[in-house]
Amino acid sequence: MIRSRSKTEMLYCGTSLLLVTAALWTTGDGCWGTPGCQIVDLSHTLDTESIKLPFFPDFHFTVLTQGLQPGGFWLEYNKFDTPEHISTHMDAPVHFFKEGLKLHEIPIQRFMGPGVVIDVRGKVDRNVDYRLGVADILRWERIYGPIPDGAIVFMWSGWDVRYPNKTLTFNSNTIEDSRTWHFPGFHPAAMSWLVENRNISMIGVDTPSVDYGPSTNYETHQIMCKANILGLEIVNNLGLIPASGSFITALPIKLLNGSGGLTRVVAMFKN
Ligand SMILES: [Zn+2]
Repeated sequence: MIRSRSKTEMLYCGTSLLLVTAALWTTGDGCWGTPGCQIVDLSHTLDTESIKLPFFPDFHFTVLTQGLQPGGFWLEYNKFDTPEHISTHMDAPVHFFKEGLKLHEIPIQRFMGPGVVIDVRGKVDRNVDYRLGVADILRWERIYGPIPDGAIVFMWSGWDVRYPNKTLTFNSNTIEDSRTWHFPGFHPAAMSWLVENRNISMIGVDTPSVDYGPSTNYETHQIMCKANILGLEIVNNLGLIPASGSFITALPIKLLNGSGGLTRVVAMFKN
């Protein structure tokens, strides 16, 4: 049984993560500015073709002013309107848990931590509805050691090569009908195991949802949000970072009362 955390607990549980983060930087895991340091963008570009669940409204980008001004200088500014959950984005705990933190309430230290990339591409090749399970996590730990505190745990299914083709992304010719979707995600049992046995900050997927395509009750979302774990969806380029040893920063927009929002996700690691 997963215990729900109170809002006070959720706000303060980031304090220990901050100490973990500080320790990582001083022991050299943060490599910015040093030889061999790689920085990889794990985000997709946001545009009208961006992947979102089909029942969300469309993204719009409007040029308001673009041109040489009478004063002789160039001026350009635009506006965009967007659903929260589109392209690379974060799910806040309130997305599936009424008492959960809203996007602007999440402590900033929760947005960074050691990266864990679990490769399930072989399983997904045989079953597009594959769900990352406890066995996949334990296999990763046998090679790299226990998942560190504050970790951001990614499922790498190889799905990002399908973007922005919506038919391939949802594996369906009728994407408006969610009963026809087929793509991989986290198994609810794996999510529960992480909540009960490890102290992670976030999970992430390169698919449209942390729950697999055929899900009808979004059980992984429910467990994740009740446990105050953050979610990243539609992540890019997981094949360009190591399975272990990266440091991840995932900064969502500071949207008042947001249930989620557009997020820039970056990995840093030493080659
Ligand atoms: Zn989402």
